[in-house]
Amino acid sequence: MSQAAEKSDQATALEKNMKEIVALCKRRGFIYQASEIYGGINGFWDYGPLGTELKNNLRDWWWRKMVLCPPIGPDGTPVDIVGLDSAIIQNPKVWVASGHVGGFADPMVDCKETKLRYRADHLIVFTPKDGQGSSIAVQEGDDFEESKARRFKKFAGKKTDADFEKRALSDIAFSEFANIIGPDASKPGTLTEPKAFNLLFETKIGAVASDDNVAYLRGETAQGIFVNYKNVLDSSRVKVPFGIAQIGKAFRNEVNPRNFIFRSREFEQMEMEFFCHPKDAKMWFDFWKEERQKFWQEIGLTKGNLLMREHGHNELVFYSKGTFDIEYKFPFTDPGFGELEGIAYRTDYDLTQHQTHSGTKLEYIDQTTNERFLPHVIEPAAGLTRGVLALLCEAFTPDPSRPSGVYLNFHPRLAPKKAAILPLTAKDGHPEIATKLYLELREEFPVDLDIKQNIGKRYARQDEIGTPYCLTIDNDTLKDETITVRHRNSMKQERIGLSNAKEFIRKGLESAAQ
Ligand code: ATP
Repeated sequence: MSQAAEKSDQATALEKNMKEIVALCKRRGFIYQASEIYGGINGFWDYGPLGTELKNNLRDWWWRKMVLCPPIGPDGTPVDIVGLDSAIIQNPKVWVASGHVGGFADPMVDCKETKLRYRADHLIVFTPKDGQGSSIAVQEGDDFEESKARRFKKFAGKKTDADFEKRALSDIAFSEFANIIGPDASKPGTLTEPKAFNLLFETKIGAVASDDNVAYLRGETAQGIFVNYKNVLDSSRVKVPFGIAQIGKAFRNEVNPRNFIFRSREFEQMEMEFFCHPKDAKMWFDFWKEERQKFWQEIGLTKGNLLMREHGHNELVFYSKGTFDIEYKFPFTDPGFGELEGIAYRTDYDLTQHQTHSGTKLEYIDQTTNERFLPHVIEPAAGLTRGVLALLCEAFTPDPSRPSGVYLNFHPRLAPKKAAILPLTAKDGHPEIATKLYLELREEFPVDLDIKQNIGKRYARQDEIGTPYCLTIDNDTLKDETITVRHRNSMKQERIGLSNAKEFIRKGLESAAQ
């Protein structure tokens, strides 16, 4: 097989995996399309019973690592971080000061023929190297390979991948647009010049709908932290350096929501603003870069699927003295990577902006030296819902040897159910022992009790939802008070004492990610 064919086979397999992940999420109650019975609504998702648990587990683990038990800092002292839960709607001046009203925009192009709108940096343009024929634009997304094959069939003639140069539309001069066929167009020259499109969702406050009471759904959780920085300083015992963390919904009117929950219009973020003395900012930046990578590995994302990418000069916002993205190799970005978290050295930009726009002094006064300064900020900003997608993609493990054909390899800490209790038969006293064990374990962990159906089917269901341990009660249990533990990944079985079950699961939760 040629290298190109092998590559495209691999791409098709990954697309298939992604489709199966989406199907499994729906079938097993992780994630549904929002308002599905009304035909859905693009860019919005609902989390089902297991998806809610998975998301809460990731959220709680982040909160624990950032707020409840933050790490020891680079200077050997325990890091101090406090939590916050600010309103989704703030005074609209917040978003003017933060720059979101003026600049929270993506470059968009319209297609004059189809009336469709695309993000310029999400259109991949294939230009014939020999200068003969039109360039072909294809939109990035879950069905990129399929769309590309369809458009090539129509417009590429005998040319193959190797005959084209590949660039993002945002890197191409408008003078070249006349020769580009848009992703859904029938002829070249229908794409307009890119123009900015604001991503903030607007709403109106109160009964009278006028332009005077326009407000915005927050585009990020971070600004709620900056506007409360002084409140937190004045009302708690924190001293610089310290952090304020917040988890919650954010809203962006994304033009092309896509790749399942990766790019949604409503999503959740986990952000922390770390305020420090300007002279220490570099040290804290390096520290958080390390810590945040460790976090994602600890919950089971493998090193090979993670990448730390530094923003280039043209990508860096003007006030940032450095930004790194932690990227994950999603099936739809493979062999490339997609952003999971950004770690930015934001200088004192946000505090300066809010100080100027609000007229409130936000300086910090060091009690021992009397020095006054605006702290510099290091911001690790992660996507909670995007993190859930990374966990699902990482966990999804096709395995034709088992009845389910697949299992979800979640770290026990993240798994929605920690164990399933399965009596071998629905008679001979098995259900009674199983129920007793279930009642005991559910005091401490989310566990399933599943009595009916053959054992193979019950294992298959637990494999599909990623339950790490199945505990089986059989005739031997009656004799010697032992049960069988079936391990999800290896399918290996071991015998443990009935009374040790709780301790066994506790240990599993504490284990390191494999
Ligand atoms: P992108 O380049 O993907 O648009 P961003 O750089 O604008 O993301 P940030 O503003 O840094 O993102 O937000 C922090 C995190 O929030 C991102 O790393 C990502 O995990 C998450 N996030 C941002 N936009 C979305 C979205 N539309 N849907 C889901 N998660 C998102």
